[in-house]
Formats: sequence, structure tokens, C-alpha cells
Amino acid sequence: VATPDEEFALSAAIEYPKVQLHIDGRWTDALDGRTLAVVNPASGAPVGQVAYASKADLDLALAAASRGFEVWRKMSAFDRYKLMRAAAELLRKRAEPIARLMTMEQGKPAVEAKGEIASAADIIDWFAEEGRRANGWITPPRVYGVQQLSVREPVGPVAAFTPWNFPINQVVRKLSAALAAGCSIIVKAPEETPASPAELIRAFVEAGVPAGVIGLVYGNPAEISDYLIPHPVIRKLTFTGSTAVGKQLAALAGKHMKRVTMELGGHAPAIVFADANLEDAVAQLVRMKFRNAGQVCISPTRFLVQEPVFEEFAARFSKMSSEINVGNGLDPKSQMGPLANTRRVAAMKALVADAASKGATVHTGGETMGAAGNFFSPTVISNVNEDMRVQQEEPFGPLATLIPFRELKDAAHEANRLPYGLASYAFTRSNQQALSIANAVETGMISINHIGLALPEVPFGGVKDSGYGTEGGPEAIHAYLNTKFISLLPL
Ligand code: NAD
Repeated sequence: VATPDEEFALSAAIEYPKVQLHIDGRWTDALDGRTLAVVNPASGAPVGQVAYASKADLDLALAAASRGFEVWRKMSAFDRYKLMRAAAELLRKRAEPIARLMTMEQGKPAVEAKGEIASAADIIDWFAEEGRRANGWITPPRVYGVQQLSVREPVGPVAAFTPWNFPINQVVRKLSAALAAGCSIIVKAPEETPASPAELIRAFVEAGVPAGVIGLVYGNPAEISDYLIPHPVIRKLTFTGSTAVGKQLAALAGKHMKRVTMELGGHAPAIVFADANLEDAVAQLVRMKFRNAGQVCISPTRFLVQEPVFEEFAARFSKMSSEINVGNGLDPKSQMGPLANTRRVAAMKALVADAASKGATVHTGGETMGAAGNFFSPTVISNVNEDMRVQQEEPFGPLATLIPFRELKDAAHEANRLPYGLASYAFTRSNQQALSIANAVETGMISINHIGLALPEVPFGGVKDSGYGTEGGPEAIHAYLNTKFISLLPL
């Protein structure tokens, strides 16, 4: 962990902006001037401020979204595509400074932040293309001469709520799909990590997306969702965050009959069979577990390892985890940064203490690190049971639990025990076993023998308490489209 002096040197060269709202094509402070402090999780010190919207700001954003929708839906899909591709290019050009801002507000290593931005640009490109393919169809009529047309139309202005773990990518999937479909959108981006998503919006604005098409607000999440979701201007809700909040928002949307996409929590099983390439499985799973300090909805959490290789897996996995270089994300040597906020540190401490008090073995980690900032060591525990909170709740942090299993059906049973069903992983040399486990696990996505999730062109979403709808692949744009049926008897 960097000392306070080193930390200062690392961030001294970067100026963190005063983050504003974006309403009706203009960057603006909140009408009443309110702001919130933004804290650097690597030091615990404030780095900047973000504007805090009140209802008066939201009313302006809603009126602008309504006007913006009328402009945007009438623009051709081809013209929308050109503007979106231009925004992706701007983002690519600015990746370096935006990545540093993201690290200052979120904590992740700058190399991960840069990867997030590169992937965001690819997501924009993909949805821009997909908007040009939002085709309808023609159905043969029962009466000669009748034309039966099924056409796609944008659902209307969207309200999007996104969390702090991937400040840009959580926004860009929603924003790109909405824009490609012809919708306007109001993004309620995360107050804790506001500058990098603002830079994403800036790329679209500077590419020439018309006023009102994209609104950006920050404030009190519950107040904003309570106001926007029932509002008649808003036709669709899309949310990424915890299952508990997702259920509340989906209920509110249901009450007002709004379309919904929900990308919620997970508790991903990683199933390692005895015939797996163990060295490779360990290397890939350690990387995946501790990416973004485990604050990832598809992070593997329960490592189910077949009995004959359990001890060897535990030893290798713990050793590799303990060797991760934890430090300020701006330091190129850091492989894992701090947790994004103090709530996550408190959660990690509580989950480890609960498990240890009920008999878990801590192989490595389990402690805070450094004199300042939200650093927590990569943690591996075993001898866990269902009474422990970590075996029920999503840890959303650098915590792995190791569980031995005997047969495939036992692994599937444990994988399906929880109400979550977002991501799963498996490692085996047997293709038959691979397909059997893929069929047995209740999950939105499963990646076998490698980490192959979250690309723009393939589905991304969950089942059960992990939500519904998908944020990748061709289906994702349909979440922002209505199908209108037109039956015409030409006279
Ligand atoms: P939280 O449940 O308070 O908030 C989660 C997200 O929802 C935040 O972005 C927050 O701003 C937003 N939110 C909260 N209440 C809201 C409301 N009434 N209306 C609209 N938005 C609202 O918890 P947190 O401490 O920020 O995050 C911890 C938990 O959230 C994690 O344990 C994890 O389960 C979940 N989470 C999931 C993801 C994901 O990628 N699926 C991302 C971040 C957090």
C-alpha cells in the first residue's frame, strides 16, 4: 500500500473536475447549488464535488427528455449510428485521462479502468450497428391485398440507474441500447464515482447528439427513482444494483406499468472438476475473483472443488491470492486497488468475522491493509457452511469460499441452492461433463474452461433473484423497442 506521500505524488498530476449535471444540452450546477463530496478510496480524502439534483432539476431533465425523444426518434437509424460511432472514437482517444479519473474515484487499477473504457467504446459501436438492424416483419394476410406489418418503435424516454463498481460500463450498456433504439434517456449515475460517467456523456455530447437526448443527474437515489419511475414522461426503467433495491424499483415500475430491465446481484459458483487443468483454472479464477477487488456482479464467490483435487486447489489458490500486489490503482505495480467505499470494508470485516466465529478456516487475508484508504486483503476461506452469512449473501468484495464436492449432482445442488442465478464458471477436460453442468445450473451465463462473459454481442443477464432482461446481444436492444402491428387494406 502506498504511503500518504507516494499517494500524493501519484495523484498530484491529475485535476479532478467539479462534476456537473447535464440537462437539455448544457452542463450545469444544481439549481439550488447543492453538491456532494467525492472521496478517493485509496486515501479516504475528498477529491472533488458532484452536483446534487433536486426535483426542480429533474423537472427540467424530464421536459428535455420529452423534447429530445421527439428529435431523436425521427432521426434515421443510420444518422444515429454515425453519431454513436463518433462518440466511441472520442472515448478511445480520451481513454488515458478518463481512466485516471476513474481510478481516483473508484480505486481500481488504472489498467482495469482503461480496459473498461476500451470495452465501453466497443459496446457503443456494437449497439450503433444493431440499431440499423432493428427490423420488423411482414405476415401473409388472410384477406388478399391486406398488408400486415410488424414494426419496431422506441419505447420512449428511459430512466437508468447505475452503480459505482463499473462507473462507465454500467451506464454504457443502457445508454447505447437506448440511443440505438431511438429512445432518449436520463441517467442517474453513481454519486460516489461521478466524473468518469460524466466523461462518457461528454463524448456523446461532443459527437453531436442533440440536446435533451441524454440527461445526466446525481442526487439522492431513492428520491430520484421515486420521482422518475412513476412520471408519465418515463416509459422504461433500467437498473443495475442490489437485488433488494431492484425488487423495490421493479414493484414501483409494475405499479405504473413501465417496461423494466433488472441486472442485480449474484453469488457465482465456480465448479472445478478433478479432471480440470488445475494450474490454468487457479490462474484464471484468481484473476477473475480479485478483478475490481471482487466488486463485480459476475465475480466467482463459491469455489466448488471436486474432492480429489480440493487440497491442491486450496493451496495453489490461496498462495496465488496472497501474492496479489494490493495498492493505489494509480501505481502501475498494483494488481488490486482499495474497495470503492467504506461500506464494503465494513461488509468484508463482518462476513469474515461471522464465518470465523462459526468455524471457517482463513487461508489468507481477512484483514484491512495500510494506514489510510479502504484496502482489504484478498481473502480465501474454507470449512464454510450454510449458517454463515457469506454462504447466503453476495460478498461483493475480495472474498472467496472453498467448498469440496463429491459428484456433479452435488455441485449442481450447491450451485442452485441460493436464489441468485447470474454467472457461473466450470473447469473440466470432459466435454460431456461440461455440457451436463451447463444444463444443470440455474444461471443466466456460464463460462467453461475460460472466462468468456460480458462481451457486447452475447447475452448478459440473470435469472431468479439476479433479475430479468439482458444487456448484451441482439435481445438487448429489444428491451428498448415496442412492436407495433399495422394492418392496412390499401384502397
Ligand atoms: P445499495 O443497495 O444501497 O445500492 C446499490 C446501488 O443502487 C447503488 O448504485 C445505489 O445508488 C442504488 N440505489 C440504492 N437505493 C436506490 C433507490 N431507492 N433508487 C435507485 N437507486 C438506488 O448498496 P451499495 O452499498 O451501494 O452496494 C452494495 C450492494 O449493491 C452490493 O452488495 C451488491 O449486491 C449490489 N451492487 C450490485 C452491482 C451490480 O453490478 N449488480 C453493483 C453495485 C452494487
